[in-house]
Amino acid sequence: MPFQNTPAPHTPAPHTPAPHTPARPMPAQPIASSGGETQHVAVVGGGVVGIACAHYLNLRGYRVTVIDRGRVGGGCSHGNCGYVSPSHALPLAEPGAIFSTLKAMLKSNPPLRIRPGLNVHLWKWLWNFSRRCNETDWIESGHAIHPLLTASMQLYDDLIRDYQLDCEWTKQGLLFVYKNQHAFESYAAVDEMLRRDFNEPARRMSASELLEFEPGLQEDVAGAWYFEHDAHLRPARLVASWRDSLQSRGVTFVENQTLEAIVESAGNAQSLSLSNQQVAADQFVIATGAWTPLLEKMLRFRAPIQPGKGYSITMPRPENCPSTPMILPERKVAVTPWGSELRLGSMMEFIGYDSKISKKRLGLLTRAAADYLKCKLPESFSETWYGWRPMTYDSTPIIGRCPSFSNVYLACGHNMLGLSMAPATGRMIAELVSGDPPSLQAKPYQAERFTA
Ligand SMILES: Cc1cc2nc3c(=O)[nH]c(=O)nc-3n(C[C@H](O)[C@H](O)[C@H](O)COP(=O)(O)OP(=O)(O)OC[C@H]3O[C@@H](n4cnc5c(N)ncnc54)[C@H](O)[C@@H]3O)c2cc1C
Repeated sequence: MPFQNTPAPHTPAPHTPAPHTPARPMPAQPIASSGGETQHVAVVGGGVVGIACAHYLNLRGYRVTVIDRGRVGGGCSHGNCGYVSPSHALPLAEPGAIFSTLKAMLKSNPPLRIRPGLNVHLWKWLWNFSRRCNETDWIESGHAIHPLLTASMQLYDDLIRDYQLDCEWTKQGLLFVYKNQHAFESYAAVDEMLRRDFNEPARRMSASELLEFEPGLQEDVAGAWYFEHDAHLRPARLVASWRDSLQSRGVTFVENQTLEAIVESAGNAQSLSLSNQQVAADQFVIATGAWTPLLEKMLRFRAPIQPGKGYSITMPRPENCPSTPMILPERKVAVTPWGSELRLGSMMEFIGYDSKISKKRLGLLTRAAADYLKCKLPESFSETWYGWRPMTYDSTPIIGRCPSFSNVYLACGHNMLGLSMAPATGRMIAELVSGDPPSLQAKPYQAERFTA
């Protein structure tokens, strides 16, 4: 992947829109239905994935309506850490994950929590997940998600430039910072695999190199691995700006309307019954993230997705704030600095659709920052947030036709990387809806892998 727009190590370089009018790709000729009208596609779910689908469908000449049960961009796409990370090719279900999870859960207030109770779907999910915690499946899932990650990075470059999306797009890389020497050195084995199998090498930085590169860290670090090709942005601004751009190109947004039923005739969807209106369309895309399994009855397909709850806190950028985004793997905390704010994010909780934010849990974030960063965090935060990551047990999203319909497509289950995989997902959905061969191999993402 080309490495463009690399800023000096300590100066964040938000993408500055070019002053001239950008050369946008021309929308295709409107696609006509049998009645001669432009074909209409209804996209349910206005997160980053639904918005990306709307974008590429609009570019192909479809009339597009995006529907959301709440505010567009108000789901998991709102308060995430903003990393666009091809380096994250290797998924959560890694060899040894079960043992390390059980060990971690013995601690009080661990970053990972599992509370299955009587939730049969969660027990099933955990069983299937545990069966994939081996090297073969780990790498297989990596090979499924990596093409989406690398293609999306390239597409973001084009999109943000061509449509002047205002989202602090910054190509400054990502640090994995360690305090424990053994843990730091052990990462070399993962680096070797990422180099060999995915062409995603990290640069090893000794403690002194790291402190020179990122003086916002405390002195007692052991070192870091630096993925210099990763990027970051402000996720809520991206969605807001992308929505504005789509609206100016004719895409309709319908908010505060929940999909309640699909009106169909012999496996061909005709219209959607929403809270208090009906939307007819020729084709339909379901991009409802972690909520997708709740649509099981109407889709006649249960997406094996569990909400993986995570938290973030956002605050005014403190003095001596680090300037490079970083993950603190020993604490499982992500640190994202932007021009005027700093965000800390972490945690993975499999506890169903729980919507509480506990102070105790947020303490994990602030304590990690206090242990690794030089800056003093402000007393009050601009936002405390939780989001439900749409977690599939094979760490791979579902992108493709819904098995029980001829004209309903699924774009969901993007796990911990929905922001990083959204553009390539949107492009693939537009290709499938149009009946064109997809730019990436479609098989790894098909819903049928769960029904076979
Ligand atoms: C703490 C945290 C940090 C993260 N950091 C990163 C990161 O740095 N990089 C990265 O790539 N990813 C990150 N993620 C993951 C990423 O946020 C998600 O993968 C991504 O937002 C999923 O997008 P989505 O559009 O599929 O879902 P969502 O953004 O959740 O959108 C789904 C939408 O569907 C709507 N909806 C649901 N049901 C219905 C219905 N019945 N009718 C109408 N509308 C409906 C919802 O209201 C919602 O707006 C992070 C997640 C968390 C929690």
